[in-house]
Amino acid sequence: MIKIKSREEIELMRESALIVSKTLGEVAKAIKPGVSTLELDKIAETFIRDHGAEPGFLGLYDFPNTLCMSPNEQIVHGIPNKDPLREGDIISVDCGALKNGFYGDHAYTFAVGEIDPETEKLLKVTKESLYMGIRQFRVGNRVGDVGHAIQQYTESHGYGVVRELVGHGIGREMHEDPEMPNYGRRGKGKKFVEGMVVAIEPMINLGTHRIKQFPDGWTIKTADMKPSAHFEHDVAIVDGKPELLSTFKYVYQALGIVSDEEDEFRAGS
Ligand code: MG
Ligand code: MG
Repeated sequence: MIKIKSREEIELMRESALIVSKTLGEVAKAIKPGVSTLELDKIAETFIRDHGAEPGFLGLYDFPNTLCMSPNEQIVHGIPNKDPLREGDIISVDCGALKNGFYGDHAYTFAVGEIDPETEKLLKVTKESLYMGIRQFRVGNRVGDVGHAIQQYTESHGYGVVRELVGHGIGREMHEDPEMPNYGRRGKGKKFVEGMVVAIEPMINLGTHRIKQFPDGWTIKTADMKPSAHFEHDVAIVDGKPELLSTFKYVYQALGIVSDEEDEFRAGS
């Protein structure tokens, strides 16, 4: 069942999303060759708790950490460890927080130092596909419209769209209805209505869409061991249109990036 949010609930969700956004900014500041994903995990946990929230993933389905840290060929759900990141790696950082009874959940894939142009393009196209999906999240459209937009764009670059993992509604539960696949057919699936809040999160592989699961029961990697990218935003439908609750602003501040990509999804735009 899809749980529609009131304006007041959406404002609370914006607070939760903002904590995750700022946490990703803190992580962004610390990402460099030599740092371990476990060190980054501690930075995130401390930041979230210092801001009156709880880590959203820690203990959820028994996940052991605050961040999902998925380097290179890992797609999602990687467990932080003591291995140092190396120059040329990419690292997908997925973060959740719980505040006032509502979850925030979003993700960004970072380059560690200089990365090869092929992987850099994968990151760029995956993030662009996220916004193409978000653009379709409006009253009158359907779940398939979002997935179709993401799939068409990323497959046009020869990339693989992960099928087994999908975006989702979000609210008092981390994962609510509806499921939001990153593939689909136009005009198919559940219809969007005012007050829906979802996490849209393309997981896009440089090569095959096929996946493998690690024996740890969590980590998902690409079947061909080529890199995978993951970007995620929390989005509400307000006045019929998509409005971002999360922001990459703090990541961009940390990385010195100037971007207007979120402007069209702000209130009043
Ligand atoms: Mg996530
Ligand atoms: Mg999610």
